[in-house]
Amino acid sequence: MKRHLLSAVAAFALVACSQPSGDDSATTAQTDATGAPDAASTAFVPVPGDDAFREALTADYVSYLQPLYEHFHANPELSLREYETAARLAEELRVAGYEVTEAVGGTGVVAVLSNGEGPTLMMRADMDGLPVEEDTGVSYASTARGLNQFDEEQPIMHACAHDTHMTALVGAARYLAENRDDWSGTLVLIGQPAEEIGEGAVDMISDGLYERFPLPDFNVSFHTFSAVPTGQITYVPGYAMANVDTVDIYVHGRGGHGAYPQTTKDPIYLASQIVVSLQSLISREINPRDPGVVTVGAFHAGLKHNIISDEAHLQLTVRSYTDEVREHLLSGIQRIANAQAASYGLTPEEYPTVNIEERYTPALYNNPELAARAVSSMRDRFGSDAVSEVNPIMGGEDFSQFHRTEHNIPTFMFWVGGTTQARLDEYAAQDRPPASNHSPFFAPDDPQSTIVQATEAMTAVALDLLATD
Ligand SMILES: [Zn+2]
Ligand SMILES: [Zn+2]
Repeated sequence: MKRHLLSAVAAFALVACSQPSGDDSATTAQTDATGAPDAASTAFVPVPGDDAFREALTADYVSYLQPLYEHFHANPELSLREYETAARLAEELRVAGYEVTEAVGGTGVVAVLSNGEGPTLMMRADMDGLPVEEDTGVSYASTARGLNQFDEEQPIMHACAHDTHMTALVGAARYLAENRDDWSGTLVLIGQPAEEIGEGAVDMISDGLYERFPLPDFNVSFHTFSAVPTGQITYVPGYAMANVDTVDIYVHGRGGHGAYPQTTKDPIYLASQIVVSLQSLISREINPRDPGVVTVGAFHAGLKHNIISDEAHLQLTVRSYTDEVREHLLSGIQRIANAQAASYGLTPEEYPTVNIEERYTPALYNNPELAARAVSSMRDRFGSDAVSEVNPIMGGEDFSQFHRTEHNIPTFMFWVGGTTQARLDEYAAQDRPPASNHSPFFAPDDPQSTIVQATEAMTAVALDLLATD
């Protein structure tokens, strides 16, 4: 049955997801001493009448998906190096009956199942782990080390739960292949590399994802989040995650003795003026209702107390939702850097060098109609209380790239709970924030509930979008 009902969405912010993915890979240090999984399982909120579907997914988890999840978890690989992970995912999808192509945009996997007339739905899982040394205490914890894309050896962990994404994709793939009478259309399931460094989606698109394979009518994905309670799903219609730009400012000066500032142009003083002035972009120049962030995350300069150096280096992350605000912030950074240098008496040749990294992660925009339809399907499965609208966040996620092409394909990503309420309560009782995504202490403490719910949600959305009637 097709549902186009615009469900009224509860507009309470249940959760502020504080640790988005696609971000810099910095880990958030936590003080959790154990991190060990809780054996007690948090059951889903039961919804009458759908037991057979859920029972089938649960049975498949117990007999098949759980070992697969533990395999993925124990064997993570870093961005752009997801060779074994991609091979295993490809094999799983091939065995499930899909036509699989490997090495699409690096290690990307594309699995197609054509099942008669109807729309084409793309569902995506990302595959990369993070350079984090696991400290969760789970029996299948990773001890992996490996080379990153710069050939540096690092510890590796699925600290962003991409292993749950792949497992749920396989779960949905298996169910949908086994139940082809229940839907009609084409499924394109992809394993995407390098989400954590914001490159994999672009790499797959550049390698012909939309030319070599059926062009999707919809793109759907999910992300497991540690701050969302297990059993809950959250989502944001419209702009959900931010444009993420990386900017370097090299502030030039004229060095000299610290005792004779009149003979120098002090880059530390000038860079300090720039750091302070940059905040006027947000507070005085853009509409207060349009979010933006300019963070100077690093300030490097100088060697010694009594030497005025000749350069300072600032490293910025710049966040926004709309193209207009993004453009304003980026051009404003250049303008302020130049103007501060001019006011200090530097010549135009001495103005700061501003490097804006060409590749950036665009804002994730969840198509509101697609979101409403998917939410309606998920509420039918889990009940209204289990699927909540939350506030947008300023993190980044390169799933946005699949929307930002000439095809303008409607896109929807939702969030699935990854920490049980009991565990969240423990953190709260100790007045500590829960271990976030990217933390060495984060892995779902009830992976069965997380993965089965994600599988059920993805499958339910697919069955609705590809309904036979
Ligand atoms: Zn991440
Ligand atoms: Zn992630």
